[in-house]
Amino acid sequence: MSKFRTAVLMQNATGMTYQSCRQSTLDRRSSHWVPVPDPWSRAQAHFEALVVHTLADQLRDRQLDGAVLGITAVDVRAWVPKLILHPTMASYVISLLLPHYDSEYGGVRGLPGARPVHSHGRLVIVDRLGDAAVELAMANAAAPPNPTPRPEMRADWRQHTMTAEETEERAWWESKGRPGFDKPVEQSILNAEDLLFSRLLRRPRIVNRVAGSHGFVNSYTHGTDLVLEWCCGVSHLEMRNLLDQSGLTHQIAHITPWNNLGADPERGTVIIERQEHSHSRSEPLLTLRSGQTCPSETPDERRQRMDAWYR
Ligand SMILES: [Zn+2]
Repeated sequence: MSKFRTAVLMQNATGMTYQSCRQSTLDRRSSHWVPVPDPWSRAQAHFEALVVHTLADQLRDRQLDGAVLGITAVDVRAWVPKLILHPTMASYVISLLLPHYDSEYGGVRGLPGARPVHSHGRLVIVDRLGDAAVELAMANAAAPPNPTPRPEMRADWRQHTMTAEETEERAWWESKGRPGFDKPVEQSILNAEDLLFSRLLRRPRIVNRVAGSHGFVNSYTHGTDLVLEWCCGVSHLEMRNLLDQSGLTHQIAHITPWNNLGADPERGTVIIERQEHSHSRSEPLLTLRSGQTCPSETPDERRQRMDAWYR
């Protein structure tokens, strides 16, 4: 495979220009096996994984124009990845990501420990707990919206230090769903899962294909996994192939190869699971399910409902 082909794979996954992708291959940040550069540290991979879980779970099926996590493209030239937000979803996505205390819910919504930092017209979300960050940006270098507090919630992100609730929630997140919570967790397992989700975040142009038909997908998490369910358009098997070509699982330890449930090529489920030492049970990490029932709502009806949501 030539460098040319690697640059095209990177371009198709990120939405970056061909020239930038070509430069990435020349700089040896991209390879035939993993065309999109990986995060530079464990903390960075972990933070990016938390971004994926936070946005997927809160957006659910409210995406517009196929932006599964509210992200239309990504620029990974710098160490801090730049996530390009959907113009209408941007303001909402920013507020979903930042931590708010919801007294009715009795917990933190958003990403505990995330704080906005403004600098030279840029909006960077940094992790108070680690050396990690993501930049939230708009297409064509437009200024990103200022973060706004969510109604009837305490804007914890406005405080410099993490609140007690944030600290507690983050500790719970770090432990939830991890094998052997009561035992020392094997570091490589954490790395593996974080890298998988970080790579998904860095491949929005592939991930967004699941929402290509109707503009949205049903996205959710049980804590540390990710489920994407949709109806028509790209199939679960096509998604698996596209993600494989982009090196999604390359050299990630402690995960199972794709498990294919069902024989129908258009309707079914593919799952990547966490590999347990005992092999007696496995927990899903990434579930892609196609062939669900198409929505009865017309595109106009949905657009009206979403306009009210994003107002
Ligand atoms: Zn459909």
